[in-house]
Parts: sequence; structure tokens; C-alpha cells
Amino acid sequence: NDAIVTRNKVRETLRLFQAVCRKLLQEEEAKPERATHRRIDLQASKILKEKGKCVNVGKQIFGSVPGVEVGDDFMYRVELNIVGLHRQIQGGIDYVKQDGKILATSIVSSGGYDDDTDNSDVLIYTGSGGNMMNGDKEPEDQKLERGNLALKNSMDAKNPVRVIRGDSKSTDSVDARGRTYIYDGLYLVEKCWQEIGSHGKLVFKFKLVRILGQPELAGKVVRKSKKFKVREGVCVDDISQGREKIPICAVNTIDDEKPPPFKYTTHMIYPHWCRRLPPKGCDCINGCSESRKCPCLEKNGGIPYNHNGAIVEAKPLVYECGPSCKCPPSCYNRVSQHGIKFQLEIFKTGSRGWGVRSLNSIPSGSFICEYAGELLEEKEAEQRTGNDEYLFDIGNQFNDNFLWDGLTTLMPEAQSGADVEVQNSGFTIDAAQCGNVGRFINHSCSPNLYAQTVIYDHDDKRIPHIMFFAAENIPPLQELAYHYNYMIDQVFDSNGNIKKKNCYCGSPECTGRMY
Ligand code: SAM
Repeated sequence: NDAIVTRNKVRETLRLFQAVCRKLLQEEEAKPERATHRRIDLQASKILKEKGKCVNVGKQIFGSVPGVEVGDDFMYRVELNIVGLHRQIQGGIDYVKQDGKILATSIVSSGGYDDDTDNSDVLIYTGSGGNMMNGDKEPEDQKLERGNLALKNSMDAKNPVRVIRGDSKSTDSVDARGRTYIYDGLYLVEKCWQEIGSHGKLVFKFKLVRILGQPELAGKVVRKSKKFKVREGVCVDDISQGREKIPICAVNTIDDEKPPPFKYTTHMIYPHWCRRLPPKGCDCINGCSESRKCPCLEKNGGIPYNHNGAIVEAKPLVYECGPSCKCPPSCYNRVSQHGIKFQLEIFKTGSRGWGVRSLNSIPSGSFICEYAGELLEEKEAEQRTGNDEYLFDIGNQFNDNFLWDGLTTLMPEAQSGADVEVQNSGFTIDAAQCGNVGRFINHSCSPNLYAQTVIYDHDDKRIPHIMFFAAENIPPLQELAYHYNYMIDQVFDSNGNIKKKNCYCGSPECTGRMY
């Protein structure tokens, strides 16, 4: 099916772009403080362009762009360009000539102008020009030319315009980039007029109204719940009962079921016989760095995280600094051990029980949460066949390189040292009785999370922590899911009979069976 292929192509391109960005950022961050810094986003888009990895590159498109969905989240503006949503790198209004007339294809409402309203169905947009954004030049009247003319022509022609909203004021992004762009869907220009702007000169104003029948925007729901400080359908205020730094509520708008009881633990629970020796640790009193030859970083073949906490790439095993290290808690090589950073909630789904989502926009590579529970030896886990819904087999992660595919071909010089693979180590985590929010994360055939093995508080490679990271930019309220990596017809009940379970992940690529 063409639509699935195109959607995947767009996701792949964005994942690749984000991975290249993280790689370039890692290089920048390794430079001495006063070195000149490159714009990594522009650099990354150049690499993708050179290798022919951009999508929708042909003739400019009016209306929906294949493979891009309403609500899609972008962290850098240039991402809009590489998927063909908005080609202008800086200009707010994109347009193209058709039958001798210019028509608008898309606008980016960046909040750089002061007139954006909060109502997500109506947008009052200020035209471009007049040196409004350029304090060095004399302000002048805006002219009915270029973007402004294109928007006016689109009004006359009743031609739909794509709207991308830049959310700079949002605290939703816990990232230095501080801004997210959300594709808001198609709008019609309803009105156009001139008025005196704040700089005393004439500006053009456009009233755009969102075309009906498009998916509702998550941002609207999130804003509403922030404004009124309640989430609709909340049935438990904090399933962690204060154990997490950020409360995790349970939301049910489907029926009146509450989440079934279990003991919330933020940490792994190890059996008595399990003696975990703390690793030796580093002596980096002034912080870890590669130039100072930190042994922890060397085990990783370099620093595995960007300074904003994003994981640079998937690894067989990540070594974070631990309790015997002399570096401070703010060390860049301590990320997943600090716990949850996003506002997560569990919600009742129609067909998959409870699931997990976030009220924040999550940038690709961000740490989400651990899969906490009781550590078991596999033979013990096998005896729990009646209650096997919350087992995670260590070493059985689905990585398949889907996250970083193509990165090494794009940037062959960027390969970092690999470590021994943690393979089926004979250990399982059971979160049936004791667990954290990770136990509620469902399976998807087209996942947006991946499981990374991490060690920091002990040296035993057979029993690493299982840590979930975002494999792409995830918009608010989109369900978080990873690939369970079960093998079809390889799951058995206590009598040795093959067990089967249907998958209801709902992704267009769903194979229909979980196992
Ligand atoms: N939904 C679970 C709950 O309500 O507690 C949380 C996930 S739990 C680790 C795994 C179980 O969730 C599975 O055994 C299955 O019952 C359900 N599940 C997860 N992903 C699913 C999917 N894609 N389709 C159907 N059921 C799913």
C-alpha cells in the first residue's frame, strides 16, 4: 500500500535526520568552549540532501503532503523542509506559481509576531516584510507582494493552505532547542486586511480558519488540561503514590474500570543470591570528558548522550557513571538513572488494556522510563506461565537497527566503538506484582520507543537495566509503544501448547499477531 510506504519513508527520513543531528551535536559538544559552532540542523539537512534522502522533493504540493500527518511534531524548522511540508528555511509564507499566479502552499506561525491567538481553529496571521523582524532597518509599510500576495490569491482562489505552528512559549519541550513545530492541518484564508502594526506602519493581516473534519489536535487537549489543572477522565491521581518525581495519573474515558492493583517500585528488585558488585568508577572530580580519558566514557567508545540528555545512537550496552564515580550527579553520562522527565499518564485503550502516553512533546532520543520489576532467572520465569503478561526477557530487545538504519552509510566516519552484545542472558524482569509505569507500555508493530540496556550501579553484564528511549519525535498524547519481539508460534503454555495472541496495535503495518 502506497500510503504506508510513504508514511514510513517520511518517518525514516526524520529519524535519520535526528540521528545525524545528534551525531553532529556530539562532535560540537566535544569542542573546546570557545570554538565556533556550526548550525547542526542545516549541516544535517545538507548531508541528507546530498545523499538523496529527502522526501516530496519534486513539484511543490498544495494541500496534504504524502506521509505527513496532522499532529506530527518537528524539533527543527529545517525538518519541515526535508519532508516537503514547508520549503522556506526562514520565510514564514511558502508559495509557488501556478497558471501565472502565485499561491500560498504553507505558512509557519512561529509566534515571532505578537498576534497569534490560542484558539486552534482560527489563526490571525501577520504578513511578511516591512522590516518588522529586523530591528536594524527602518520600519516600512508591508507590500502586497510575494508571500502576502500569495496568501491573498489563495483566499480569492479558496485554495487550502497548510499551517505549521511553532510553539516557542511551550514548556512542553524539555530540551535546549525549546521549540516544537506542529503540523496543524489545512486552513482556508477567509479574510485579509491592512492595519497599523506595533511599529506604526501598515501590516497585512490574514484570518485563516481550519477546515473541518481533520483530527483534533492534542495540543488543544493539553492546553485545556493545563488551564483547568485537571485531566478529563482521571481516575487515579498518581499511580506511583508519590514515588516518582512527577505524578503519573490514570485516565479512563472508556468505562469505569480502574487500573488493577500492583506494588509501585521505581527500582529493580533483585533476588537474595544476586550479589551486585559496584563497578570501579572514574575519578573525574571535575566532570567526565573524553579529552580527560574518562574510563567510563572509554567503555562506551565516547560519550553516549548529548548534553540535552538525548541518546546519540542505540548501543549493545551503555555504561553510565555510577555510585563509585567521582563525577557530580550532573555528569552528562548520567541520564536514565535520574528517572522520568516527562509528564506521563496511563490511559485505558479500547483493545489493549492500559497504555502509556505523555502530555509533552518528546524529542527523538529522549529517555522515557525504565522497565522496573523483579529480576528472575529464566527457569523461574517459565514457571510463571499463567501470569506471563509482564515479563521482559533481557537480551531479547527488538533493535533491528531500525532506529539508526542508514546512519553509518551517511556518516561512515562517525561509527563508534561497539561492545559485546548482551544476548539472551537467561534473566527476565517480571513486573506483574511489582513494577513501574514501564509495565503499562504496550507492543506496537510500528514502535516509537526502543529498549536500551544500560548499566551503572553494578558490573554484571547479564543483568543490565532495560531503559526506554524515544526512537523519533513523539507528539503529546500519542501512545508510547515498543516492539515486544515475540516469535510467532514460539510462546507456550504450561502444557507445552503453542499460545497465540492477536495484536491490536492499530498501526497500518500491524502483522496481526503478537505471538
Ligand atoms: N495493556 C497492559 C495492561 O493493561 O496492563 C500493559 C502492557 S503489558 C506489559 C502486556 C499485555 O498488554 C499483553 O500481554 C497484552 O495483553 C496487552 N497488549 C500489549 N500490546 C498489545 C497489542 N499491541 N495488542 C493487544 N494486546 C496488547
